[in-house]
Amino acid sequence: MKIVLVEDNYEDCKAVRTILEQRRETVFAFTNGDEAWSFVQQTADIDVVIVSLNLKDNSGLEICWNCRILATARKPMYVVAISEQTNAHILVEALDSGADDFLHKPLQEEILLARLRVAERVVMLQKQLVQLANHDSLTNLYNRRAFLEKTHALIERQDPDSAVSAIMFDLDHFKSVNDRFGHDAGDEVIRTVAKIASAEGDLIGRLGGEEFALISESQSLYSAACLANRIREAIEKTAIMAGGKLIRITSSFGVARYCAGDDVDSLLKRADMALYRSKGNGRNMVTVDRSGASQNEQPAPRRTKHA
Ligand code: GH3
Ligand code: MG
Ligand code: MG
Repeated sequence: MKIVLVEDNYEDCKAVRTILEQRRETVFAFTNGDEAWSFVQQTADIDVVIVSLNLKDNSGLEICWNCRILATARKPMYVVAISEQTNAHILVEALDSGADDFLHKPLQEEILLARLRVAERVVMLQKQLVQLANHDSLTNLYNRRAFLEKTHALIERQDPDSAVSAIMFDLDHFKSVNDRFGHDAGDEVIRTVAKIASAEGDLIGRLGGEEFALISESQSLYSAACLANRIREAIEKTAIMAGGKLIRITSSFGVARYCAGDDVDSLLKRADMALYRSKGNGRNMVTVDRSGASQNEQPAPRRTKHA
């Protein structure tokens, strides 16, 4: 596990660190509450935070509280408060401030390790829940809600000069795949298309049925259109084996670039309208919404239309 230890008593810190490292845990030790908290915020996959309530900067309870807020926002984490005080009041205050557990100092090796085994079980369960809540079970892509949330977070933190583009696509005449080959074969087609698109980026979601969206962080609308066209070609060229039959499918794309004032909804709406035009103009093509393009950008690749 990745464990953050916040303890400004040198001897206590060394003792706990030694116990944990003997168990091959990865330990990040801090003597300063603020530094520990920035580290926890910026580092992915911290499993446990062990925090002393006797820090000289008095930040122990605040760290418990902040970690609880972070853990509630789908970053699974187990918080253990430690203190040399033994009264019930400090234990209650620690648990009420968001700690999952409380231990008295000096820590006894056996007890600490037993509590960490509990932490490991709880964190694993939390991670499974987050995975289930964020992913579509058929394709393992982000589900609609998680995709929108992650896109929103990306837009919020991006530099306005390196704006992102949204690519939306929908399988063509997919209903007839179900009708001709059966629903299970249709599922296999959706899974295969998801794998093809996953090879081209990380932020991809299944928005529903046979409709997908992808966020490209490439520098221009042109490169986002090229990416969409690559996925379109890969889907078109792939013969999908399902239910003992080879199935071929095409897909229609819409691409839009983030403009100043856009939010996730308006960006995806423009990509969706471009996709709708691809459907209307014959399907199996990429349509680019030009509102986010600079005047001197290159033309889009073949089988790409400018809306
Ligand atoms: P278009 O080219 O206009 O997009 O036509 P289409 O047939 O792809 O679109 P339509 O909206 O008429 O049909 C989509 C079909 O996708 C209908 C629905 O039963 C099917 N579908 C939605 N979700 C799933 C799924 O998870 N698995 C399977 N097998 N089919 C699904
Ligand atoms: Mg469709
Ligand atoms: Mg559809």
